[in-house]
Amino acid sequence: MKGGTARSRKLALRPPSDPYAVPEQSSSTASVKDAHALPKSIKLVEVGPRDGLQNEAGQVPTAVKVELVERLAEAGLRTVEVTSFVSARWVPQMADHAEVLRAIRRKDGVAYPVLTPNLQGLEAAVAAGAKEVAIFGAASETFSRRNINCSIEESLARFVPVLRAAEALGIPVRGYASCVVDCPFEGHIQPEAAADLARRLFDLGCCEISLGDTTGRGHPASIARMVEACARVVPMDRLAGHYHDTYGMAVANIHASLRLGMRVFDSSVAGLGGCPYAPGATGNVATEDVVWLMRGLGVETGVDLEALVSVSAWISACLGRPPASRVARALLAKGGGGEACAGPA
Ligand SMILES: [Zn+2]
Repeated sequence: MKGGTARSRKLALRPPSDPYAVPEQSSSTASVKDAHALPKSIKLVEVGPRDGLQNEAGQVPTAVKVELVERLAEAGLRTVEVTSFVSARWVPQMADHAEVLRAIRRKDGVAYPVLTPNLQGLEAAVAAGAKEVAIFGAASETFSRRNINCSIEESLARFVPVLRAAEALGIPVRGYASCVVDCPFEGHIQPEAAADLARRLFDLGCCEISLGDTTGRGHPASIARMVEACARVVPMDRLAGHYHDTYGMAVANIHASLRLGMRVFDSSVAGLGGCPYAPGATGNVATEDVVWLMRGLGVETGVDLEALVSVSAWISACLGRPPASRVARALLAKGGGGEACAGPA
């Protein structure tokens, strides 16, 4: 197959009325903003190429991965997580990590972090040109053992050499904390357990802690309790929300976190993703849905929604299914657009 498709093709049709226009925002925005002290802008961390694609059963061609990263950056995303330097035995989908990282055409002002579970992964990532990396732990003991084959304590000990080596190279390290409100094996996770992991990752030197609702069972009340607990031990500007949309609550959870002062959110174009250890979990919140929410609230994301929906339609066609994003589906239905993929399903 050919991975490169018409990069420049946009949505085929646009009716006279702009489907990307956010309805009735002018007068209401100011009052909403004042009432809840919303920020001018937020940072979106696009995790589709890594968190999303790593859960795809069929092997996605390297050229499609490279094109996805490049198109997301072109759509205005300033942080695009590219791949994972985990062992190919664990995650065969990410076996081409070095090839992908080397191949992407980098855009100025865009960060391209990669996941590095251990020192070996860090070294391979740096050799392939990584300038930012991430490590991952879990707030649930059972999930930690099932997902990364070690206890929480052991996982933290393993991160130390990675963090020290990264520090020596001047490479920022992000820390992922999964199962912060719920675990597929243990059920509800206490906010204190999430906060404890967040604090320890921060104390070890992580520059940002991404709080993951891996099963998507969090709702605005449980998410708010968890975020508040974490913000008591880690500065809020170092926390990020990473919410899966399994129960349709991710956008509400982002809104709740935004109102508590959180300013960084992870999302996945077309809602790509899931978790092999969390049966039934769908993907991350769709980037399109978050951009739509923020546009309605008058909060800047830097993302061109039209270009993003085009990327969403294209990658979904590559994977042989419609985008999971409700916003993308609505806009595509309205705009009549969409883009075929020259690649396989
Ligand atoms: Zn995720």
